[in-house]
Amino acid sequence: MSEEDSPAAATPSPRPRFRPLPLGAGPTTRLVHGARRPDWNAGAVVPPIYRSVTFRYPAAFSEGAVRGGTYLYSRLENPSVEGPAEVIRQLEGGEAAQLFASGMGAITASVLSLVGAGEEVVAVGGLYGGTTDLFGELPRLGIRVRTVPEGDRRAPDDLVTKDTRLVMFETPSNPQLRVHDIGRWSSAAHRVGALVLVDNTFATPINQTPLALGADLVVHSATKYLGGHSDLLAGAVVGSERLLRRVDPKRCLGAPLDPFVAFLLERSLKTLALRVARHNENGVRVTAAIADHPAVERVHYPGRASAEEEAIAARQMRGRGGVLGVSLRGGAAAVAVFLRSLTLIEVASSLGGVASLASVPGVTSHRHANPEELRALGIDPGFVRLALGIEDADDLVRDLREALDAAERVGAAPPL
Ligand SMILES: *Cc1c(COP(=O)(O)O)cnc(C)c1O
Repeated sequence: MSEEDSPAAATPSPRPRFRPLPLGAGPTTRLVHGARRPDWNAGAVVPPIYRSVTFRYPAAFSEGAVRGGTYLYSRLENPSVEGPAEVIRQLEGGEAAQLFASGMGAITASVLSLVGAGEEVVAVGGLYGGTTDLFGELPRLGIRVRTVPEGDRRAPDDLVTKDTRLVMFETPSNPQLRVHDIGRWSSAAHRVGALVLVDNTFATPINQTPLALGADLVVHSATKYLGGHSDLLAGAVVGSERLLRRVDPKRCLGAPLDPFVAFLLERSLKTLALRVARHNENGVRVTAAIADHPAVERVHYPGRASAEEEAIAARQMRGRGGVLGVSLRGGAAAVAVFLRSLTLIEVASSLGGVASLASVPGVTSHRHANPEELRALGIDPGFVRLALGIEDADDLVRDLREALDAAERVGAAPPL
């Protein structure tokens, strides 16, 4: 008897029964087939969009029935949202996943669910500007925040204390693309009873799976690579059932993912592995092609900061991604000419879309930082972030070389 024919299907809105995939199915297969449900109407092979905010109570409504998994109200659960959540859960290798209206929704929900007054958060390395702003609010709630500057060479064991409840970092980090050792931070945190939260936005689960390396929770701005087309805002949290039950903030923070956006996200996820493979290829090709250009002082790309980071990246990453930083010798003046001279690459913030973007962190993601803070983050006045898309590498290299040539003419040092 198929699931559709079973008496259980007669009770309204059973929670998802995803069709199991063959044991050992690869990531691309999981992206394409990971959220198939036998209960889509009319034999549809792509998911319907469930706009309904409310759902019929089971005939014999009881607390037990609710706990047994029925839909009630779309802020709490919605079938359209569970599809992409299931795919992301499988790719990250977690027990449970929840989606949010934005990456910041996911990060705020996670941090506020896990840390309380009198406890400490350790914030490691360069973080997304919104996350830094959130951490700036925490002291008001009695939560201490200890910041570990990018490039701090002290051992993780020396940076956590018995009060540390949460260690959070991004790897590769924003915007310097520094690599942090997920395994090493996880053992240090676990030794003092703290949790590790990794923002895996830049790497994506195709390039890196932090849970397998010891992290407790993974967050994503699904707005970036998971969404992939710069046309949706979404966030995700993945981890154990136990922790996800605590990160249950859709109920109180009110940032659930909209069902239509969830549909778009699920559609995008199907091509994630293909897109990320191309982003990786373009990242490596462009780094090699522009690193020696006379206008370029330095290219920042995961693993390039030191031999130690290269070793960590080789261990924990399967690909290095499509974001790189470029420090121009000519400073702010060279940056202005460089950006004006790009013809293919658009000048805009954000990353992870199919189209390449160039941005200046000092005036976008890190606009609230003052010059000293920017310097501490390694953002010199000549710093530009390139978020490479999936275009043909030769076209990107041509556009960048022409813009760098123009920047070099302006930025050339005056003769002695
Ligand atoms: C964009 C971004 C965020 C915030 O995500 P939104 O979807 O914009 O809320 C968080 N972390 C990183 C690394 C990001 O790039």
